[in-house]
Amino acid sequence: MEKRSILFVHAHPDDEAIGTGATMARYAAEGAHVTLVTCTLGEEGEIHLPALAQLEAAQADQLGGYRLVELERACAALGVTDHRFLGGAGRYRDSGMMGTPANEHARAFWGADVDEAAAHLVAIMREVKPQVMVTYDANGFYGHPDHIQAHRVAMRAAELAGEDAPKKIYWGATPLSVLKAGIDALGESTDNPFAGITNADDFPFGTPDHEIAASIDGNDHHEAKVAALHAHASQIPTTSWLFSIAGNFGTEFMGVEFFTLAAGTRGPGTGLYGWEQDLFAGLD
Ligand SMILES: [Zn+2]
Repeated sequence: MEKRSILFVHAHPDDEAIGTGATMARYAAEGAHVTLVTCTLGEEGEIHLPALAQLEAAQADQLGGYRLVELERACAALGVTDHRFLGGAGRYRDSGMMGTPANEHARAFWGADVDEAAAHLVAIMREVKPQVMVTYDANGFYGHPDHIQAHRVAMRAAELAGEDAPKKIYWGATPLSVLKAGIDALGESTDNPFAGITNADDFPFGTPDHEIAASIDGNDHHEAKVAALHAHASQIPTTSWLFSIAGNFGTEFMGVEFFTLAAGTRGPGTGLYGWEQDLFAGLD
């Protein structure tokens, strides 16, 4: 196979670190060409640093520019050098949570023409020729409009890219077995959007283990992922549930990431459900 090339399509700065940081760091360390495309600047994010509170959209509306720098630091932590914003920085705006006025902004990604947005991604596919693409499922993992739109745009781009389309497409996923184990590890986290949830079936995500296609062991890069999460300090406070689970659960929580296979042929795997251990499995 030609040089390994893998494309990650994410909605906001910080999603790359939370969902796929260990996988990105692992493939970058292994010498693959790792491309990150982020669709918005995350202008509508909730700000967790008091000193930056006035950057919010309703006031100075400068959060996007700040998060751009946070993302640069996160990419440096992950060893990822090829990062782009879809259509260029500022082309598409964070749409905010579903049902909020930000959905209607003239540049909101949620309102973007899917084919036009996909064309920007097709151009990147033609350039970096990824054998593998990673993005979200049709629900955007948890229902955020920009994540849903990132899914639509990424999948449409793969349709339009012809021979330059990725051979395999994965969607990030959390196995129900991991979710169940994680609930107990939430401990005393003060920033916990799942407070009160004691049953894994009540989460807005979670995939039956037999539907998972790949388990990527990035344990060696767990520290890079944690550093990338800390780079997004405006969004992820040190008291976040992410760090709580990481502290209580062990490196595996940060270091191992899971995916379902949306397109392409599944390669050889291991374990009860034959999970692939490499997103390029079967392509070499
Ligand atoms: Zn996001």
